[in-house]
Amino acid sequence: MADPKGFLTHDRELPARRPVDVRIRDWREVYEDFPAPKLTKQAARCMDCGIPFCHNGCPLGNLVPEWNDLVYRHDWREAIERLHATNNFPEFTGRLCPAPCEAACVLGINSDPVAIKRVEVEIIDHAFAEGWVTPQPAARKTGKKVAVVGSGPAGLAAAQQLTRAGHDVVVFERADAIGGLLRYGIPEFKMEKRHIDRRLDQMRAEGTEFRTSVNVGVDISAAQLREEFDAVVLSGGATAWRDLAVAGRDLKGVHQAMEYLPPANKDFENSPINARGKHVVVIGGGDTGADCIGTAIRQGAASVTQLEIMPQPPAARPGSQPWPTFPILFKMESAHEELSDGGGDRVYAVSTTEFAGDADGNVRALRLVEVEGPQSGFKPIPGTEREIPAELVTLSMGFLGPEKGALLQDLGVEYDARGNVARDKTYMTNVDGVFVAGDMGRGQSLIVWAIAEGRAAASGVDRFLTGETALPYPIMPTARPLV
Ligand SMILES: Cc1cc2nc3c(=O)[nH]c(=O)nc-3n(C[C@H](O)[C@H](O)[C@H](O)COP(=O)(O)OP(=O)(O)OC[C@H]3O[C@@H](n4cnc5c(N)ncnc54)[C@H](O)[C@@H]3O)c2cc1C
Ligand code: SF4
Repeated sequence: MADPKGFLTHDRELPARRPVDVRIRDWREVYEDFPAPKLTKQAARCMDCGIPFCHNGCPLGNLVPEWNDLVYRHDWREAIERLHATNNFPEFTGRLCPAPCEAACVLGINSDPVAIKRVEVEIIDHAFAEGWVTPQPAARKTGKKVAVVGSGPAGLAAAQQLTRAGHDVVVFERADAIGGLLRYGIPEFKMEKRHIDRRLDQMRAEGTEFRTSVNVGVDISAAQLREEFDAVVLSGGATAWRDLAVAGRDLKGVHQAMEYLPPANKDFENSPINARGKHVVVIGGGDTGADCIGTAIRQGAASVTQLEIMPQPPAARPGSQPWPTFPILFKMESAHEELSDGGGDRVYAVSTTEFAGDADGNVRALRLVEVEGPQSGFKPIPGTEREIPAELVTLSMGFLGPEKGALLQDLGVEYDARGNVARDKTYMTNVDGVFVAGDMGRGQSLIVWAIAEGRAAASGVDRFLTGETALPYPIMPTARPLV
C-alpha cells in the first residue's frame, strides 16, 4: 500500500486547465503540466482495497492499486509494465476516458475518488519520454493472415494483440489516416494527434501493416478479403448517425457533428464548415456536443448555444445512482467552461421544432419549445415556443449502430436486437472466421470498451487460427457498464 494515511492527509487534486482566454487561441491540449510531487500525493491516496472496485469499474480490469503503489515508490518502469499488461493504449484512455474506475473507487463512498486517470496518463507519458515504449515483435510467426477493417481503438487493440501473437495483420481504413474517431472525431484540444502517431510507429515496427483510403466492401470486396485472409476482424464503429426530422433540416448550415468535426480536425483554421463569426447551435448535450462547442469557439463563433432535450442532471450523485455505478451528472468539461466564460448557454429540457432559413436557403434561426421530462415522452409545454439565432447547427444526437453497407451485406452477417453485428462469446459473427469488436458489435460506447473488446476479440481470433491462445480476454461481449 502506497501510504496508509494518504487518503486522510491529501485531498484529490487535478492539474489546472490553461486559462480559457489563452487556450481558445490554440488547439493544444487544455491541461497544464502536473508536478511530480503532486502526483505522488495523488497516488498515495489509494487505499489498496482488499476488494478494489476500481478493477470492476474498468472494462480492461486495469491493475490500479498496483500502479498507484509503484508511482508512489517512483518505480515508473514497473508501473508501465503493469499498466501495459491490461491496456494497449493508456495514452488514449488516460486523456479521454470518463473514468468509470473513479466512479467505482471505494474512496468515493464518502470522499473524492483517487485521481486514477491522472496517474495513468503520467505513467505512459513518462514511459514514452524515457524511451521505454519499444516495439515488441512476435518471437515466432504463425503464417496466418488477419484483416482488421477499421482503425479505431478496437481495431488497433485487436491488431496489436494479433501481431504480437505472430500473425500477419493488415489494418484497412477508409479514411486517409489511421485512428478512427480518435483521429477525426475527437478534437486536438482533448488529445493531440501526436499521441496516435507515436503509438502507430510502435505498431508498424512490430509488423502491423496499415492501408488507408480503402473502403472495404467497395474498393476491395468481402469475397476478396475472405480469399486473401484467414480471419477478419470487423471494427468499423457505429457510424450511422441519428438525424432530426424537422422542417428546414435541409437548409445550408445544418450539419451532423461528424460532418463538422472531421474537416475541422484536418485543418483547424480553414475547415470548409467554419463557425467563424456565426451564431452556432449545438443540438445534443453529450461528449460529441462538447467537442463541437470547443471547436466552434476556437474557430471564432459569434455565439454558441447547446440544447439538450433531457432535464439538467444533478451536480452530485442522486440516491438513484449510488456508488459504484457510473452516475450521469452535470459536467463542466473544458468546452463547457469555455462556453460559459464566453457568455454562451447550455439549455436543458428543450426540443427543436423547426429551422428557419433566409432567401438563399441558409439556416437563420432555430425554433424550440420547452418540454416536460422523459416520463411524459417530452411533451411540449404550451406557450414556451421561441426562436434563437442559428447560422451553423450541429446535430450530435447519438449514433444508431453500424452502417449496413456493402461490406456487411456481402458478408451476410446477422444483427442483434439493437441492430449491431451479432457475435458469440468468442466475438465471432455467424460467418465462420469473421469477428466483430468495438462499437460495431456493442453500439455507440467508449474508447475503453473498444480497447477491451479489441483485446478480447483478438483472443478469439488467435484460438480460431491456432487452436489455443495465451491472449487475455478482459470482457464478454455481453458485459455492460454498472448502472
Ligand atoms: C465526437 C466524438 C467524441 C467522442 N469522445 C469520446 C471521449 O472523449 N471518450 C471516450 O471514451 N469515447 C468518446 N467517444 C466514443 C469513442 O470515440 C468510440 O466509442 C470509439 O472510438 C469506438 O471505437 P471503434 O474502434 O469501435 O470505432 P471507431 O473509432 O468509430 O473507428 C471505426 C473506423 O472504421 C472505419 N471504417 C468503417 N467502415 C469501414 C470500411 N468498410 N472500410 C474501411 N474502414 C471502415 C471508419 O472510417 C473508422 O475510422 C466519442 C465519439 C465521438 C463521435
Ligand atoms: S478502489 Fe480506489 S482506493 Fe481502492 S484500490 Fe482502487 S483506486 Fe485504490
